[in-house]
Amino acid sequence: MKFTIIAKEDDHSQNIAGKIRTYLEDFELAWNEEEPDIVISVGGDGTFLNAFQKYTHRLDQTAFVGVHTGHLGFYADWRPFEVEKLVIAIAKKPLQVVEYPLLRLFIYYNDEREPETYLALNEATVKTVEGTFVMDVEIKGELFERFRGDGLCVSTPSGSTAYNKALGGAIIHPSLPSIQIAEMASINNRVFRTIGSPLVLPSHHTLTLKPVTQFDFQVSIDYISTLQKNVKAIEFRVAEEKVRFARFKPFPFWSRVRQSFIAD
Ligand code: NAP
Repeated sequence: MKFTIIAKEDDHSQNIAGKIRTYLEDFELAWNEEEPDIVISVGGDGTFLNAFQKYTHRLDQTAFVGVHTGHLGFYADWRPFEVEKLVIAIAKKPLQVVEYPLLRLFIYYNDEREPETYLALNEATVKTVEGTFVMDVEIKGELFERFRGDGLCVSTPSGSTAYNKALGGAIIHPSLPSIQIAEMASINNRVFRTIGSPLVLPSHHTLTLKPVTQFDFQVSIDYISTLQKNVKAIEFRVAEEKVRFARFKPFPFWSRVRQSFIAD
């Protein structure tokens, strides 16, 4: 099995990453940054997002596992003191994976440019560069509402505990292939109206945002922030690809939610 490690810059994470590399090489596993079968992230969920974005071109051949060096993470769910156990599991146990849904987005432009496409593990957000964000929101090609406000966040089920949660979105179990749309400060009065609650779309539905007054937007994909100019439409759907997590111990999703937000 070929492996690589993506670690946060701090000394603690770097030390743990060094230890994991030495142990795995002692077990004669090969370090391979280009074509790893397993990617081990050491840090937090932010580090895990980095690892994911680096290998989006080979998701069907790469599994991910995360060690957290700060607080418990959603993706990084192994603790530093469990590193020996993790290494033995990687080296000796058959690789078992669980798959979680991802978000696919396409950005279309008013000029000759080819559409851009991205995969997100957590979410994509769209905001204006300045002024009020005004977009027609279409679901399955039909106008649903004209949204005015700060922006919109479209998340995956596993990203529903991240930015989406801070926006009042629901926590969605990752066994439901879906995307969730959460509003950022919508304008609601007697003239302007939006649904006001988060929406969850199934995998056969598409969300399309069409700009009305301005065409330049700040589009974020997980931790990546991009400036998109002259946008014609942005389309979101459940991706065909899935992310594969290497699972060596049971750690049910709702236990992770409880331990992260209620009590350890
Ligand atoms: P960051 O600002 O350094 O980290 C944001 C926080 O979100 C960190 O505490 C991170 O955990 C946590 N997080 C990431 N994915 C999560 C998940 N699926 N469930 C629960 N918590 C999660 O930013 P970053 O490290 O570059 O990460 C980018 C992410 O930040 C975005 O994908 C977005 O979800 C999140 N974000 C949240 C808000 C908000 O809540 N208001 C605003 C902007 C962005 P770790 O400490 O373990 O890394």
